[in-house]
Amino acid sequence: MLEVKSLSVSYGAVAALMNVSVHVAPGEFVSLIGSNGAGKTTLLNSIMNIIGRSKGTVKFDGKDVSKANTPKIVSRGMAIVPEGRRVFANMTVRENLEMGGFTRPAGEVKANLQKMFEMFPVLEERQTQTAGMLSGGEQQMLAIGRALMTSPKLLLMDEPSMGLAPLVIKEVYEKLKVLASGGLTILLVEQNATMALKYAQRGYVLENGRIILQGKASELLGDNEVKRAYLGKE
Ligand code: ATP
Repeated sequence: MLEVKSLSVSYGAVAALMNVSVHVAPGEFVSLIGSNGAGKTTLLNSIMNIIGRSKGTVKFDGKDVSKANTPKIVSRGMAIVPEGRRVFANMTVRENLEMGGFTRPAGEVKANLQKMFEMFPVLEERQTQTAGMLSGGEQQMLAIGRALMTSPKLLLMDEPSMGLAPLVIKEVYEKLKVLASGGLTILLVEQNATMALKYAQRGYVLENGRIILQGKASELLGDNEVKRAYLGKE
């Protein structure tokens, strides 16, 4: 579904990613973990060409999208839930969802809106309220719903647990699990290594812009180095 090869990104003289290669098979749930500043957000933004890259290729759904612009990549079936959720705080919940689907035909928007309300009943209940009034967890659900309005095949998730209480984080991950079991392919990046690896099938560890470890999520959870550096355990 997604094949990223030898990606390098620099911000001026600062190298943020160096020769990063990751792949995600259709239907897979893959988590990439890394601490603050490791380059996680840079990776997702550069896959979608939101920021430029100095080197590397991105193949999506069998096609080379290395040079495609972001709207084109979205139209091919990739969507991102950005770090910090970035809901449109002054617009209603329903308008936020509609904005997510604004490039889609009206019929598809209507059908997807209905699907989102089924998936996230709280969004239906709150549809006329402004998004800024929602709790952090509800805003995360809204951000996911907004991304799904484009009917993506691959969802990129940036730090879904940021700023949320443990119970709410679990709710978010449970929703992702339902979406994944419905066939959605997910690439998620997180500092919260425990949750990210618990729900994923496969994982990567990014450190200072490089992939230092990869493997089955269950194996990474049991890896001594991962435990020490990312799970706070000896
Ligand atoms: P966080 O979880 O804190 O967002 P991250 O793993 O997502 O961390 P990035 O935000 O991708 O990390 O940042 C990777 C590196 O690139 C860091 O050293 C950061 O300071 C630097 N960086 C990020 N954005 C910019 C920018 N716009 N200009 C200059 N440097 C940047």
